Amino acid sequence: MATRKPLIAGNWKMNLNHLEAIAVVQKLAFALPDRYLDKVEVAVLPPFTDIRSVQTLIDGDKLRLVHGAQDLSPHDSGAYTGDVSGVMLAKLGCTYVAVGHSERREIHGEDDAVVNAKVLAALRHGITPILCVGEGLDVREAGTHVQHCTDQLRGALKGVTAEQAAGLVLAYEPVWAIGTGKVAGPADAQEVCAALRATLAELYSDEVAGTVRVLYGGSVKSSNVGEIVAQTDVDGALVGGASLDAEEFAKLSAIA
Ligand code: PEP
Repeated sequence: MATRKPLIAGNWKMNLNHLEAIAVVQKLAFALPDRYLDKVEVAVLPPFTDIRSVQTLIDGDKLRLVHGAQDLSPHDSGAYTGDVSGVMLAKLGCTYVAVGHSERREIHGEDDAVVNAKVLAALRHGITPILCVGEGLDVREAGTHVQHCTDQLRGALKGVTAEQAAGLVLAYEPVWAIGTGKVAGPADAQEVCAALRATLAELYSDEVAGTVRVLYGGSVKSSNVGEIVAQTDVDGALVGGASLDAEEFAKLSAIA
């Protein structure tokens, strides 16, 4: 069986200016000695305006943290005012980029086709997508959440080769648990994460499915991360609110 190093990724959303970002990353690095980072990979996904500062700090101080972005354009360059391309993010040393976050799907109307184009754009430039899927409360109550999430996954992976799929990171983020304080139970997280992995096995192979890290996201904090990442098919967490507090983020990363 493949061994998957857990990943804890902090999605800062539209919070922290570039000076605050530096302070948070410095504190995080201080609180996370190598013995933890040998076991878990810790990433921060700052707003675009902070990325250069975070990159300079991580590279300059040789920190063992990695950084990424929260979104990218499906296009590489051109007349797309306000957008930021994978070419630009690659130049800023981004390892990861979140794609298909529910806030992008809801607020910016991104559908599966857009998410698919963004996944392909990230892969074109050697950036690993953290592909987010998840259901709203209505879908959860209707009991069709597994189908909903696996459909989103299939839609996002059109044209993605087995070789590309092998390096992906997925994040199961039930929309009703994001920023609400409601956490899906460990068994709920396992149910969907296992179904996502089974879908990868069906689309590609068991081998590919075994390499992909599947994260859970939704009100994760140090008090609940342990039982979530203990699930067989959960390989870490995508963390929103709790990633803004360096001490809490370090604490939950150390537990994972
Ligand atoms: C997120 O933004 O991806 C997220 C999971 O947020 P929170 O941890 O605040 O629920």
